[in-house]
Amino acid sequence: MPSPKAQKIDLNAEYPCPCGRKGRLVPIVLTEAFGCNRCQQIFVVEKSEQVIEQLSTTHPYKKAWLWTGSRWYRAHTGLKEHYLASAFVLVVLLPLIWVIGVCNIPNLANRHLWAIIPVVLVELIALIQWLAYRR
Ligand SMILES: [Zn+2]
Repeated sequence: MPSPKAQKIDLNAEYPCPCGRKGRLVPIVLTEAFGCNRCQQIFVVEKSEQVIEQLSTTHPYKKAWLWTGSRWYRAHTGLKEHYLASAFVLVVLLPLIWVIGVCNIPNLANRHLWAIIPVVLVELIALIQWLAYRR
């Protein structure tokens, strides 16, 4: 899926709020942030000046949006990339290391069973994570 082209955010302009409650994002004087007049959330403009991040203590991860010129587009935050990277390590690299390790143990009984344990475990963890993340 191609990302929409991001536009620079003008700190002196007003934008619709991404909260979807027909709020307006009003610039907060002398800061690089906007405040919504409906949901009272504060959104900080990132250094790239193309992304706003919601200042929130109630969410475990930050929400961020790209400005496309007409509407906000939900952006991928650093934490999600981090999450995907750790998921990759967990699902792909660890079982691989385990399988290679098991193959190098001489005279191991039930070698194929030992090889299958981490795969089953990791797939279970991945499934649980996916179910939790999906909601
Ligand atoms: Zn709002």
